[in-house]
Amino acid sequence: MTELIDGNAVAEQIRTDLQDSIETLADAGVRPGLATVLMSDDPASETYVSMKQRDCEEVGIEGIHVEIDEDAPAQELYDTIDDLNADPEVHGILVQMPVVEQVDKRRVLRSVDPEKDVDGFHPENVGRLVAGDARFKPCTPHGIQKLLEHHGVETEGAEAVVVGRSDIVGKPMANLFVQKEPLGNATTTVCHSRTADLAAHTREADIVVAAAGVPEMIDGEMLKEGATVIDVGINRVDADTEKGYELVGDVDFESAKETAGAITPVPGGVGPMTRAMLLYNTVKAAGAQQGVDVEL
Ligand code: NDP
Repeated sequence: MTELIDGNAVAEQIRTDLQDSIETLADAGVRPGLATVLMSDDPASETYVSMKQRDCEEVGIEGIHVEIDEDAPAQELYDTIDDLNADPEVHGILVQMPVVEQVDKRRVLRSVDPEKDVDGFHPENVGRLVAGDARFKPCTPHGIQKLLEHHGVETEGAEAVVVGRSDIVGKPMANLFVQKEPLGNATTTVCHSRTADLAAHTREADIVVAAAGVPEMIDGEMLKEGATVIDVGINRVDADTEKGYELVGDVDFESAKETAGAITPVPGGVGPMTRAMLLYNTVKAAGAQQGVDVEL
């Protein structure tokens, strides 16, 4: 029987567990604050930001939302980040990606105070992650680690294949897998669009993390019997639905589940975990900045 890895359930558990830390902060007179900044009219980005704000409200984090006209000069965004860096009630800052054309993405990533960089994208935090001294683990790969942990998937000594090498998913995922620490110690291969024979790698993998953004590209024939399959992809494909589309992952779920030992669905797998880990990082940031031990 293939095990379904239920991201909604694990994310709910993480939010519940966070309550102790949020109470510890409240006892010290601190309410964690997360600022989201949106400078785009992209409907998907708007949806992501509003979900993050709703998550904050549900767990007792103060959500601060700043919206900047997408045609405004880039300086407006840089100034907003400076203001939020200086605001003591803001412990975490998230600038919704992708940024609009006139904005220098690297400047944005560098200008968020590393202590408030709950996405974990600042070069200092990337460096710390690689060096095995992470301040904030990026939300998606951290969420995947938690999913694997909750489902008792052993990473030590496992062959892990990460499909995709983006800065937000593939690279940090691979960096976590190779760390000499619990939930690491995996023999890790990173595949990408120039990989000569993707299936040759995935067929050897005990754990496959699919983060390519290509609908249903990994099917059951590309997997080893009993593998754990983590599908990060969120792809809109045309469908005969009310909205005219449906969301599918990078894995062909129906065929993959015949071979896999455990698999995440899309939606309801990695997505909710990414959101939960943002709350986790925000609470951690608040504790660190206010000198309160929140045990995260
Ligand atoms: P990017 O587009 O930044 O990166 C995609 C990566 O996949 C690249 O490294 C690319 O290779 C590689 N790739 C593309 N095509 C192939 C192929 N045919 N074979 C092997 N590798 C390939 O995407 P992201 O990492 O930002 O996101 C990946 C997917 O995950 C998207 O569907 C996105 O929507 C989703 N996502 C989901 C999240 C969640 O919470 N569930 C969070 C973040 C993203 P190359 O580098 O050579 O171009």
